Amino acid sequence: MDSPSQIYEAVVVGSGPAGITVVGNLLEQKLSPILWVDKSFSGGRINYAYREVPSNTKVGLFVDFATALAPFRRIVSSTPSRSRWDEPSESDGVAVNDKPDKLQDLRSLDQGKGCDLSHAADMCLILTEGLRRTPGVVAQPGQVEGAVLDESTQQWNVTLRDSAKSSGHSSTVAAKRMVLCTGSSPNNSPLPVEIPGLYTLDLDCALSPTLLATALSPMDNLTIAVIGASHSAILVLRNLYNLASTSKPNLRVKWFTRHPLRYAEFMDGWILRDNTGLKGEAATWAKQNLEPETMPGSDVAKYVTKIQYPSGTEKDVFEREMQGVEYYVQAIGYSRDPIPSLKTSSGRSIEPKYDHSSGGFTYDSKSESKVPGLFGAGIAFPERVTDPHGNVEYSVGFFKFMRYIKKVVPGWI
Ligand SMILES: Cc1cc2nc3c(=O)[nH]c(=O)nc-3n(C[C@H](O)[C@H](O)[C@H](O)COP(=O)(O)OP(=O)(O)OC[C@H]3O[C@@H](n4cnc5c(N)ncnc54)[C@H](O)[C@@H]3O)c2cc1C
Repeated sequence: MDSPSQIYEAVVVGSGPAGITVVGNLLEQKLSPILWVDKSFSGGRINYAYREVPSNTKVGLFVDFATALAPFRRIVSSTPSRSRWDEPSESDGVAVNDKPDKLQDLRSLDQGKGCDLSHAADMCLILTEGLRRTPGVVAQPGQVEGAVLDESTQQWNVTLRDSAKSSGHSSTVAAKRMVLCTGSSPNNSPLPVEIPGLYTLDLDCALSPTLLATALSPMDNLTIAVIGASHSAILVLRNLYNLASTSKPNLRVKWFTRHPLRYAEFMDGWILRDNTGLKGEAATWAKQNLEPETMPGSDVAKYVTKIQYPSGTEKDVFEREMQGVEYYVQAIGYSRDPIPSLKTSSGRSIEPKYDHSSGGFTYDSKSESKVPGLFGAGIAFPERVTDPHGNVEYSVGFFKFMRYIKKVVPGWI
């Protein structure tokens, strides 16, 4: 992996869309060698959990993502280039556009519509394979367990567990920077009440029509509660309705929501609720079937009962309405996955607080001082944005990661 004296310019932790974005941007800034660590290098959560989920962004934005950087364009191009920093050009002896590039799958779709996330996941796999082969990138299958900041040199000593070796061998490397692209998972905090016989159903499973059908196949006469009004909640309701209206006519759903559905709205040159509002297929289906004026006349109402309640009354409402419910799915947002343990060479533990505008961290929530060489990106560490109406949101999505990292990465160098 490295010679003992090797010092990496950066260790990038995680190879989901955020890790891909960061490695591409560091290469574009001609910063290498980069050590890239992930247990599987397979596109992150989008690929292993959400291939069947319809996107909430347009296909065109995935193509824009995959062509936003010179290192990416080199990978997706069908034309070989001369050096690692070159882009293919006419002088390579081949007309640049005379062969289809590797994005034909995405390009063949309607660019102004959404698509199943399998298409975006396949694009991630193409970029991952290309980046792994790019000179200056060392891709290490494994897990970053922890890192120590050497206060005198301001370098990071990063401990990795090598998943390629059956012994799970650990090693330590030195790097000037470490970028956490470690992702988030669905929130599944315990309910405020205990109901005997009520079990949790994993959100990732409920988002996949195939997994959901398999999980429910042995059961009949089942009532499932869906908690939330997010994009994920709507997709779960739709998956459950599709089962109930076909192979599971005895399936019933209770939908618990604290507020009316909120949609993204196209304004004059910007989008209201761009990150939190419903979009794409989920928005269309919700408008047609779940709004107070459409739900009563919709076939969905045969299987789904809506229970709207004010915030703060969950305990009473769940106590009453969850009786007889066998499973509940919570679609109430995502929380950061655990990050590697971090400390300084003097033994001080670092509880990093993210700065959502520079991509860096302070030592803890009370500290103002920046942790040298520590950065984050992706769903766990997104940009904070304020819209023209003053609403604050966190910017999550492939192309948003790209725009943000392009903006902040010069400050990391
Ligand atoms: C249901 C859903 C639908 C979405 N739809 C869209 C959409 O349509 N369009 C869009 O643009 N965005 C969409 N997003 C948002 C976003 O693009 C994805 O959430 C994206 O997968 C986030 O990428 P990430 O790289 O931050 O995290 P992840 O994909 O979770 O990747 C994190 C990676 O880090 C690795 N890792 C973690 N810890 C360590 C460690 N210690 N050492 C080594 N590796 C580690 C993990 O194994 C994983 O591979 C959606 C999100 C969700 C949840």
